[in-house]
Amino acid sequence: MSTIAFLGLGNMGGPMAANLIAAGHTVVGFDLSADAVAHAVEHGVGAAESAEAAVDGADAVITMLPSGAIVRSVYDAVLPKAAARTVFIDSSTISVDDARHINRQALDAGMLQVDAPVSGGVKGATAGTLAFMVGGDDASVEAARPVLDPMAGKIVPCGGSGNGQAAKLCNNMILAVQQIAVGEAFVLAEKLGLADQALYDVVTGATGNCWALHTNCPVPGPVPTAPSENDYRPGFATSLMNKDLGLAMDAVSTTGSSAPLGSHAAQLYAAYAADHGHLDFSAIIDTLR
Ligand code: NAD
Repeated sequence: MSTIAFLGLGNMGGPMAANLIAAGHTVVGFDLSADAVAHAVEHGVGAAESAEAAVDGADAVITMLPSGAIVRSVYDAVLPKAAARTVFIDSSTISVDDARHINRQALDAGMLQVDAPVSGGVKGATAGTLAFMVGGDDASVEAARPVLDPMAGKIVPCGGSGNGQAAKLCNNMILAVQQIAVGEAFVLAEKLGLADQALYDVVTGATGNCWALHTNCPVPGPVPTAPSENDYRPGFATSLMNKDLGLAMDAVSTTGSSAPLGSHAAQLYAAYAADHGHLDFSAIIDTLR
């Protein structure tokens, strides 16, 4: 069993750390929020005084932080304190460029390092069923695997450094477009006099089926566990979808890619997030009505 430093014990990091402890690892955590630390301590996490103190004696270091700028500043602080060959895993959602920057920095300092962003949300973090998209060299990916296992439903190696983030951004751009398309279909169906349940029954057995419909149905009724049944309480918050689309649009622009639907979805979510960031992203159906 390993000693793991966990930096960022928020909505995702807290339950992820709890699953590492349940699997028998020792976890030493740090977060700027005293509440987040207190909650993690209740689940068996040892509280460190600082990020630097947390990595002292750790075999692996996991970061689960809000932004690339924060991850970069934490790497600047902790890399000089870590032992050679420590396994660094960044599971935050950040840009591909930031992911490759911290990877180079960590490898130059003699560490192993992967980007390993996740999908599955707080539910998946709590259940230990997150899907990890992993980018890095083979030695780093293999070293990260046993650390990721207790938190994972699925671990997908995606190639070199940054490719985990690339996969995450591409997935969420598809998802944003699909959630809007499904919302448009329900609004059109309502105007045509077609019942929500009938549309759901037809499309889930037809070629338009997708997660945005069969699991995250944007109208109440057909899917009892969907956020639409619960006043659009997340779920996956619109503010997080907006953040991920911002990263995707940066990537579209730096690579000179064409993504007309992704770009339009990003505009719609940016506008909606201004006042509804706390709601599940399926609530965007209200702007279509
Ligand atoms: P969160 O805001 O709940 O948690 C982030 C934590 O980081 C906070 O507790 C904050 O106090 C802490 N923090 C900030 N700066 C710090 C620093 N310098 N040192 C130590 N701690 C610091 O966010 P979250 O929902 O847990 O998301 C974390 C990451 O996971 C984000 O990058 C997010 O995009 C990604 N993500 C979130 C979800 C989700 O459903 N919440 C799903 C997939 C990916």
